[in-house]
Amino acid sequence: TVVIGIPASGEHETRSPINGDVVKKLAALGVRVLIQRGATDASFATPESLGDVDWAETSTEVIARADIVWSIGNLSAADQAALRPGQLLMGLLTPYASAEHVTALAATGVTAFAMELLPRISRAQSMDILSSQGAASGYECVLIAASRTPKFFPMLTYAAGTIRPARVLVIGAGVAGLQAIATAKRLGSVVHGYDVRPETREQVESLGAKFVNTGVSAAGSGGYARELTTEEKEQQAQALAKAVAESDVLITTAAVPGKKAPVIVTRAMVEAMRPGSVVVDMAAEGGGNVEGTVAGKEMLVGGARVIGPVNLPARMPVHTSEMFAKNLLNFTSPMIADGVLSIDWSDDVIVGTALTHGGALVHAGVAKVLG
Ligand code: NAD
Repeated sequence: TVVIGIPASGEHETRSPINGDVVKKLAALGVRVLIQRGATDASFATPESLGDVDWAETSTEVIARADIVWSIGNLSAADQAALRPGQLLMGLLTPYASAEHVTALAATGVTAFAMELLPRISRAQSMDILSSQGAASGYECVLIAASRTPKFFPMLTYAAGTIRPARVLVIGAGVAGLQAIATAKRLGSVVHGYDVRPETREQVESLGAKFVNTGVSAAGSGGYARELTTEEKEQQAQALAKAVAESDVLITTAAVPGKKAPVIVTRAMVEAMRPGSVVVDMAAEGGGNVEGTVAGKEMLVGGARVIGPVNLPARMPVHTSEMFAKNLLNFTSPMIADGVLSIDWSDDVIVGTALTHGGALVHAGVAKVLG
């Protein structure tokens, strides 16, 4: 039998990459699940709900006994150092964070799959952790904004008149941005959306939102955006300034893989918003799309509240853990037949996601970025 080990997540993490449903599906593949006691408490997965699993008292024991380690994020330095050749590690491993980080991971000999690197192809959709957690983040951004704005989101008719709906602008219409748009619509606000990839216009409009046209089009490779030139940035800023000033709520979700988040909204643009406006910068942890954002803080810029939330998916750990666990199950199950582990190194999805193997960094894209 193959053992999948789950050490406790870090201090501020509430998610755990397992639930009872996934335990059952793994059992059918001949996999035993070994969990560090307490690791699932914050995600509300009780021992009863998890069913037939094994428990370990320490993360050290989990790492020692596991063939595959499932983790939300990076392991502690001590746990990481205990990884060994032939063992598999899967989770969000911040592959672009630093050369030192990847070098240390590679040195253990572990075969590490950084789920951030998963190719964005149809076949891999069910394994896509960035997408599932991104959708959760987009949803949560809107709830934060709705609770911080001094206005109603929907149109509201009362005995003495009618309150106009709030205006929401979502910049970056990828997985998170589209879910933010859908959520803001459901709450009854008037929503505008914007992205540099031209194909997003149709997606934004299909959700009932209006698309902001800046005349800048910057499709990159693999369905992602590329970085803008200086001229394009200026053109974009001019067109967006008006849309930002007219909004009660601004939500930004723009990212370019392997790069610092693009700064799209300047301090002057935020200062031109009405007092009481709310900005939620989902890219805060990656540097922010809005000038003046501080990750983990709410700042006052002019009369606007600029919020830089961190680890949004951790705010709804029951569902985000379920999504995470199912994504990992779908990634792992093709590697296991009759309780035996074997990796198909001719599979693009596996090769594209592998960060370290055989003592080395094996991902060309990451190697290029880290230099
Ligand atoms: P992301 O998190 O990397 O970026 C979020 C959005 O920011 C993207 O839509 C990007 O175009 C946009 N952006 C970047 N720079 C910008 C700028 N300067 N101004 C405005 N917007 C900017 O992206 P993501 O949400 O992970 O998804 C990106 C793409 O991948 C989409 O095309 C999505 O449909 C596709 N995708 C495909 C699959 C699949 O087929 N398996 C799965 C998930 C996503």
